[in-house]
Amino acid sequence: MSRPQQITVLGATGSIGLSTLDVIARHPERYQVFALSGFTRLSELLALCIKHAPRFAVVPEVGAARNLQDDLHAAGLSTRVLVGEEGLCQVAADPEVDAVMAAIVGAAGLRPTLAAVEAGKKILLANKEALVMSGALFMQAVRKSGSVLLPIDSEHNAIFQCMPRDFARGLGAVGVRRILLTASGGPFRQTPMAELAHVSPEQACAHPNWSMGRKISVDSASMMNKGLELIEACWLFDAKPSQVEVVIHPQSVIHSLVDYIDGSVLAQLGNPDMRTPIANALAWPERIDSGVPPLDLFAVARLDFQAPDEERFPCLRLARQAAEAGNSAPAMLNAANEVAVAAFLDGRVRYPEIASIIEETLNLEPVVAVDDLEAVFTADAKARVLAEQWLSRHGR
Ligand code: NAD
Ligand code: MG
Repeated sequence: MSRPQQITVLGATGSIGLSTLDVIARHPERYQVFALSGFTRLSELLALCIKHAPRFAVVPEVGAARNLQDDLHAAGLSTRVLVGEEGLCQVAADPEVDAVMAAIVGAAGLRPTLAAVEAGKKILLANKEALVMSGALFMQAVRKSGSVLLPIDSEHNAIFQCMPRDFARGLGAVGVRRILLTASGGPFRQTPMAELAHVSPEQACAHPNWSMGRKISVDSASMMNKGLELIEACWLFDAKPSQVEVVIHPQSVIHSLVDYIDGSVLAQLGNPDMRTPIANALAWPERIDSGVPPLDLFAVARLDFQAPDEERFPCLRLARQAAEAGNSAPAMLNAANEVAVAAFLDGRVRYPEIASIIEETLNLEPVVAVDDLEAVFTADAKARVLAEQWLSRHGR
């Protein structure tokens, strides 16, 4: 192999960012870190820079940049520190970069991820919110630049692995009947409904199978994560919402399935460890060691399946409605959810109120067409205002 591939990791200090760096560090002959970004936990970002010696590091503001730059000099590193969204877009689009891991959480990741798409990079997409918000525009930009889009979300990576190579011809053309999107059901799958008003952020973040950032952990508990993933699957695989069925599978060993018209159902299995989809996407179409131990089927022993209960998980119903409405609806759903989850993590709202905030926000604002990025951000901002108004109306 020639020179190692240059990788930018957006959101390097997060759960996906750290797993990505773990896989990269196992293959120094194949991959080199070009840039790392962090938003909080900047001492951890410094430690990551010392370990990986990137060309660039990106932080949110000038003061933090100055401190990090001084610390990097003191450590004998020539890493240059850049600031804010502009810095993120710069390291996403730099001509020397081969692949960008998009692992910022939430809407904040949209512009940098799109900058990488527009520059024609290989995109390792963990930041599902970016695609949910801007679906049609995002996919248009991918087609226009010829960027290779590889899903990191374990379910979508599983679906990608179970699809034929030419799935872009359309699900009907390649004989796919349905996509079966698996979900663990999260920590509240069996909690008595009456207790849900009293669950804490810590309980919501204690996922039975996966260790993840706090926002996606709450989304997993409410199943909004599965709702966002349904929308994500529709864009990635050009599916209609009715072609994506959610299946609760509490063991999180099957990461999703593809159902073909001849009755074949292909599944991808593995231990619940994000290093598998990360390694798969990094090396695609080759395979590399991810550090994940082999799956022990005898220890797993059984695989269970259940239909999701939309009364227990109203966020799943809201997301399916937004998927069907399309246009500005997914961006509004995502923004209202971001506000509601942040308020829940701050102890300002109760868990069942997350769904109430989103539902009331969506009911207050008509769905409009989104023909450009500005329209996406307008829908996002409107939903944030309405969700904040819900909080002040309820004295939070
Ligand atoms: P995390 O909270 O652990 O990390 C988030 C990263 O984004 C951190 O590096 C943080 O510094 C950065 N960040 C946060 N706010 C920012 C802002 N406003 N501007 C710039 N950077 C900011 O989250 P995570 O669990 O690693 O998830 C990251 C993304 O990957 C999310 O979109 C999530 O849905 C997706 N994802 C995560 C997992 C998982 O197992 N953790 C699985 C599938 C998909
Ligand atoms: Mg997932």
